Amino acid sequence: MNRSITFPLKPVVFETTDDRATIALGERLAKFLKPGAIVAFYGDLGAGKTTMIKGVARGLGVKETVKSPSFVIITEYLGRLPVYHIDLYRIRSIEELLHTGFDSYLRSDGVCLIEWAERAEELLPVNTIRIKLTFADSGRQIEIRGLDYRLTEELK
Ligand code: ADP
Ligand code: MG
Repeated sequence: MNRSITFPLKPVVFETTDDRATIALGERLAKFLKPGAIVAFYGDLGAGKTTMIKGVARGLGVKETVKSPSFVIITEYLGRLPVYHIDLYRIRSIEELLHTGFDSYLRSDGVCLIEWAERAEELLPVNTIRIKLTFADSGRQIEIRGLDYRLTEELK
């Protein structure tokens, strides 16, 4: 829990100047996601994790607008695939997390979009797509790792 995360793969780096550009990047990413995909989002409060997830969900055909859940840890949506928006902000231990059924979502045929993913780092599979959002002068810097390199280039 809360240990620093090292990202082994070289990232492809994007910059977005506003929330609409972050949503659009999420929408483009969605077309590369297959059943069982796990996308882990990292970044401080307000960095844009939920904003990008809105775009991914929209790109997956979810009609409802994804919101930041205040108490719920897992919200399910249905697009062309089941979409699980998982926010681990309030999770305090791996034991608590396992009680939510988190690991069964990881093994499902839906797409898991996980905020504060560092809180579940040891449970994430090797093929997890990792997205780190940070504040930049121009808006946000968004680093994507773990997606096939050629596909990531296509997102540009
Ligand atoms: P998080 O889920 O990481 O806490 P949110 O997505 O809920 O963050 O909030 C991000 C906030 O920053 C929103 O109010 C959004 O409008 C604003 N914002 C400004 N610029 C950007 C950008 N380039 N990308 C994403 N959000 C941005
Ligand atoms: Mg959020």
